[in-house]
Amino acid sequence: MYPMHRTNPDIETRRSHTIRHLAFLLLLFCSTKVFPIDSNQLVQHQLQVEILPAQGQLIATDRITLDTADHTFEFLLHAALTPTLVDEDASLVARELLAGPVPIRRYQIQASSPRKTFTLAYHGTVAHALTVTGEPGSNRESTPGLISKNGVFLAGSSYWYPQIGNARVGFTLQLKLPAGWRSVSQGNHLPDHAGWEEQHPQEEIYLVAYPYRYYHRQAAGHLAEVYLRQPDQQLAERYLDATLEYLTLYEQLLGPYPYAKFALVENFWESGYGMPSFTLLGPRVIKLPFIIHTSYPHEVLHNWWGNGVYVDASSGNWSEGLTTYLADHLLQEQQGSGAAYRRTTLQNYTHYVARQDDFPLVQFRGNHGQISQSVGYGKTLMLFHMLRMQLGDQLFLQGLRQFYHNYRFRAAGFDELRDTFESVTGLPLDTFFRQWLRRTGAPMLKLASTETSTTSQGYRLRIRIEQIQPEAPFQLQVPLFVHFSGGERATPYTLEMHDRSATLEIESAAPPVKVSVDPLFDLFRRLDPSETPGSLGQLFGAKRLFAVLPDAADKVTRQAYEQLLDQWQQRQPGLKRLQDSAIEQLPESAPVWILGSENRFAGLFDPQLTGQGLNDRSGTLALTMTRQQSGRQTLGYISTDNPTALNGLAKKLPHYGRYSYAQFSGDDPVIDQRGEWRMTDSALTAILAPAPSYPDIPDHQPLIGGNH
Ligand SMILES: [Zn+2]
Repeated sequence: MYPMHRTNPDIETRRSHTIRHLAFLLLLFCSTKVFPIDSNQLVQHQLQVEILPAQGQLIATDRITLDTADHTFEFLLHAALTPTLVDEDASLVARELLAGPVPIRRYQIQASSPRKTFTLAYHGTVAHALTVTGEPGSNRESTPGLISKNGVFLAGSSYWYPQIGNARVGFTLQLKLPAGWRSVSQGNHLPDHAGWEEQHPQEEIYLVAYPYRYYHRQAAGHLAEVYLRQPDQQLAERYLDATLEYLTLYEQLLGPYPYAKFALVENFWESGYGMPSFTLLGPRVIKLPFIIHTSYPHEVLHNWWGNGVYVDASSGNWSEGLTTYLADHLLQEQQGSGAAYRRTTLQNYTHYVARQDDFPLVQFRGNHGQISQSVGYGKTLMLFHMLRMQLGDQLFLQGLRQFYHNYRFRAAGFDELRDTFESVTGLPLDTFFRQWLRRTGAPMLKLASTETSTTSQGYRLRIRIEQIQPEAPFQLQVPLFVHFSGGERATPYTLEMHDRSATLEIESAAPPVKVSVDPLFDLFRRLDPSETPGSLGQLFGAKRLFAVLPDAADKVTRQAYEQLLDQWQQRQPGLKRLQDSAIEQLPESAPVWILGSENRFAGLFDPQLTGQGLNDRSGTLALTMTRQQSGRQTLGYISTDNPTALNGLAKKLPHYGRYSYAQFSGDDPVIDQRGEWRMTDSALTAILAPAPSYPDIPDHQPLIGGNH
């Protein structure tokens, strides 16, 4: 299952995958090579299952059919389930107990003659209460398997059916549930909604159940379904609309949807999981108005990437980056905000991934925080964007469609992606993939010089670009735009870079007036500080930083600031505290927090406060500024008229890292406003001559749709 953009309702714009990747944990667990059966095998399960929610119990029979006949085979089952073998000419031997998120026992079936089919009967209790997992303070709950009156959640992690090695499974699942209960699993309904079936190879079998309110609509060859815990016709209609809209969009973009339905299912805890042919969202998340056009399409698209083509995790997880590129990025692109989205992506990498923390993409498995997210999602989506820029939209889409067609219901890695794109385009792509998958680091560009001279025909412009990162040079196709006097739009150029430095010469009739290097953020690179507005993330991403406390504040307020720093210090041990009365000047060697409107240095922020119309005398405020010292230094400012709010602020503010400022109100601070400073000119732009105006550089047309 795929964890979606978990969105904390308090933190409206936080867009990050923070639920742990359960599928990955399972994979690790299964890959301990106890079993000879690999993922190329397909095991058929014919399950008949009765669920007794009040008792936490299930009673089941499973007729198992293997690909090839054998004398013996092994399976794993939840240790609280008791199996018996129905077949007569074979015996069942219980082996050792294995530890894991649930207790598991290994069994062996031994038959007198080779056979492919066995039938097991088993029953017992699977009831693991919800527990809080993840980072401290996250309140995130999960269970590896739970049958209860409040709902049923069974997955591969529950070992609720016999699991045979790493084999893929096809299944029919006939269910007996209490009156009024409805179930959801992968694939298609059995006749009369008596259960589910899916014959295409699956990684695991899910079973979710509750006395759901059921809504559905059939259109354009698709079945959209909604399962809610409380009746809500309007909400259901919105999701039915969105489901059909996105299934149609992605079918057009990539090829046929691989499953018989797509269902939105309300979970009984706050979750955001994407399973094959359904998504399991928590009751609060489901009602957030923006989810339906942000995280929801991302989950729908995972049916192509991740739950359609499976991830061969041995060479890195390509599916999150590609899904993010074709959902989150594409939807922004359709609104005309593609470049802004890419800038934020690069900004996160630049601020959060210090050189020593970076890792090559081939090592990305799943999201474990800001660093792995910036690399695993951010760098991967930029890889796909750069590939698209090099190939053009037509070939890029052809390659994706071919990849989907070739590997549907099979595991594939970056190697298969590269092979597919090479065969579609006839181009050697080994260097491109190797550079972005196997290397760490990122290029940093510098517009080193621009020289204009006159010629007999007009003008000659020489532009020199340098790569100034400490790592070895990257092979790059650097996009450049030159605006010529009197022209209506800037002219695009591409500069091939194979070394530290490269020069482009352009002859023109009209004098060149402006040069912009990669203004649409088409390259994966570390940004120049002048390309990003000051952001709170620059402080939260710093390894070393200072915090200056206000001596003049009252005792309660000073203590509250100290406690705020105590909380942040756990994640940023390099944070050093200073008293404003004890220093003449602010340190210049690292970012600095200035705490309190009583602080001697608070006046530094007056231009930001007045410029943005912010008031630091009411509510709780956090903002940034940059100043030109020995380099560009980020300063942050926090003030409050309510020391009680600082405890909540300590938890919430790190989620607003992309913003330049954020203002909150209340004891348990609630966001009132936030935003980014408007940008001044970037160091990768050069004005060569004055002109009445310099036209904006339009972003690329979206891959599909949109009216931009
Ligand atoms: Zn995802």
